[in-house]
Amino acid sequence: MQHSRRQFIKTSAAIATGLSVALLPAGVNAGQKGMKPSSSGNSLSSLLPAGGKAGGKAPSAKMKLSWRAYDLALKHTFTISGFSRKSTPVVLTKIEYEGVTGYGEASLPPYLGETQASVIEFLKKIDLSRFSTPSHMEDILTYVDNIAINNSAAKASVDIALHDLVGKMIGVPWYNMYGLDKTEVPYTTFTIGIDSDDVVKEKTREVLGDFNILKVKVGGPDDKRMIKAIRSVTDLPLAVDANQGWKERLEALDMILWLKEEGIVMVEQPMPKLKLDDIAWLTEESPLPIFADESVQRLSDLHRLKGVFSGINIKLMKCTGMREAWKMRNLAEALGMKVMMGCMTETSCAISAASQLYAGMDFADLDGALLIANDCFDGATLQNGKIIATDLPGIGVVPNKLFDTNW
Ligand code: MG
Repeated sequence: MQHSRRQFIKTSAAIATGLSVALLPAGVNAGQKGMKPSSSGNSLSSLLPAGGKAGGKAPSAKMKLSWRAYDLALKHTFTISGFSRKSTPVVLTKIEYEGVTGYGEASLPPYLGETQASVIEFLKKIDLSRFSTPSHMEDILTYVDNIAINNSAAKASVDIALHDLVGKMIGVPWYNMYGLDKTEVPYTTFTIGIDSDDVVKEKTREVLGDFNILKVKVGGPDDKRMIKAIRSVTDLPLAVDANQGWKERLEALDMILWLKEEGIVMVEQPMPKLKLDDIAWLTEESPLPIFADESVQRLSDLHRLKGVFSGINIKLMKCTGMREAWKMRNLAEALGMKVMMGCMTETSCAISAASQLYAGMDFADLDGALLIANDCFDGATLQNGKIIATDLPGIGVVPNKLFDTNW
């Protein structure tokens, strides 16, 4: 779909009224100093039709939040350092307002501690009727964040649905509101889990041609065997993710020096997340950039990680969604750190949300929806090794035939 002139005008209006500025943390973007971050959403309100859709109901209409548990079936059993699984539970969300529906998702890999039950319990506490319009995003999402600590994926499911809803009401995709070119994105890695040589080689052959960089799960005694198995099939650039698996810094550095010779281009979470002194030393000595994943969750973590890691892996499910992901991206770049966009095993709903805000980042790991057999959304797609958002407004998704509409 081509952008219409109407969309362009709306987007320009969004930028002119400071919408993108309002999404930045105060003090981060010096060039836009003096434009007050909005807490009331006034600039956004001005873009929405009065009372919702033209000729719609009175402005007293309320947002309606609803949810549904859904289990993602993985195409392959997935093994990382310490865990193995065949499915991932998620909770899908909807926020409806004036006949428009925004979609969201909480993905719940077991090691992060949230469950479908805990997400639903959290969502039941949310009362969106206290807000008169979805455009008050800052107020709404701050309220949601303050309901309880943690529950990051549950919060993300509301954040994503609200972004989708507001983007649809304005009629533009979020990458336009962020001022990003949706095609200027890094190649996504495709993750190869820890497995036997034959399985690793087979999985690698399967994806050759579709991807320009692969990610290998390491962090155990099989690391060199895994890399050699992949190298016997391809010389594509590789990223590695140790998932905290290397326990000693000298062992980690030895491995990184070997990996460098094998054409590896970056290392994710080499050591346990709290061993920041060891990781800072490793980053100093390493010829490859070292990215935080388990060591970083939210915006408030960033200052203590400067000088410890080369960069951070931002994931919507860790950081409560698009609002905070955008702030983290901007703060990390202001601190001189590299940035990558990551994901959990997710449907195209959450992947499409991530695809809105990662143009210009250093790396991407957005293969989550490609790993599942029952994706219930059509959205961002793999094109020449990159995950590209659709031209649709909001987060750019449409529920497909696997989506149960009875809720
Ligand atoms: Mg990781």
